[in-house]
Amino acid sequence: MFDINQITRENIKSLQPYSSARSEYKGEADVWLDANESPYETEFNRYPDPKQTTLKEVLAEYRQVDQAQIFIGNGSDEIIDLLFRAFCEPNVDKAYILTPTYGMYGVLANLNNVEVVDIPLQTDFELPSMAELKANINSKGLLFICSPNNPTGTTYALKKINEIAELFEGLVVVDEAYIDFSDVESALILLTSTPNLVVSQTMSKAFGLAGLRLGMAFAHPDVIATLNKIKPPYNVNSFTQREGVERLKDIKKLECQVSEQKIQRVFLFNELTKLSCVKKVYPSQANFILVVFEDVQRVFEALRRKGIIVRNRSNEVESALRISVGLPAQNILLLNELKSL
Ligand SMILES: *Cc1c(COP(=O)(O)O)cnc(C)c1O
Repeated sequence: MFDINQITRENIKSLQPYSSARSEYKGEADVWLDANESPYETEFNRYPDPKQTTLKEVLAEYRQVDQAQIFIGNGSDEIIDLLFRAFCEPNVDKAYILTPTYGMYGVLANLNNVEVVDIPLQTDFELPSMAELKANINSKGLLFICSPNNPTGTTYALKKINEIAELFEGLVVVDEAYIDFSDVESALILLTSTPNLVVSQTMSKAFGLAGLRLGMAFAHPDVIATLNKIKPPYNVNSFTQREGVERLKDIKKLECQVSEQKIQRVFLFNELTKLSCVKKVYPSQANFILVVFEDVQRVFEALRRKGIIVRNRSNEVESALRISVGLPAQNILLLNELKSL
């Protein structure tokens, strides 16, 4: 039986949340004199909806979940930070991180004084065996599975994710920042059967709204309620909420862009494989490709001199650069530079 009290920090259980003007009165009115806002109309003179009601309505419909299963954050980075604050007792609970993966998990663990346990992924970035996981896990806390994984592009089977969630007494966070680019099914379908799962998504990648900071977490309503209790009251601004809704209403456009990017990903993968400076190209289900080069430093510098910036990941994966899938013309430019090396 899932019991939120088993995983919530004591100080959070007893916390009295701030009650904002806009959460105390939600109805319609003609005269708003409760929040010390300016009465002069600008587009933004009123505080944003602290509950992001409209955005959640549209999102619930699109992702086929209940509104009570949705949390909206100021980027998924805020969501991960709030998860640490709510569900990780510093120096007691731990952050289990399957490396190489997204760097923010470790940074946010450190920020919250939560010990990091790195468990390496296997060859070709497959998940560690259950035996390996059992040998390394000895506390509650957060366990991160990034699928598709950044920077490798690997996806993980839902069956495996479920097995891990059943083994772990804390929360398993499945980071699906790149799910829209992948052909695999989202972990959202596990939510009802697996209450200690948090699925995190973002509008920063496929939705093209990185500058607006809009992250989404989907989880058991008790987990969501706890996040709502501790979040800054007005964490998602009104412009972002509005644009998020607009983007969800025009999903055809998003789907077109995503399918073009997927075609470009295949094209890039095939072309990169043919190059003499390339040692290995990892298959990817995201909007980037991890490429191992013969002489990574030389390639990185040469591209930079030509004004093409890629991400050097050789500290995590030997001799590897992570290359985002660009527009068709940009991908051609990249390939031409690599060919000329
Ligand atoms: C880009 C990315 C995010 C996005 O974070 P935001 O704060 O929502 O912009 C989250 N997780 C991973 C693995 C990413 O690569």
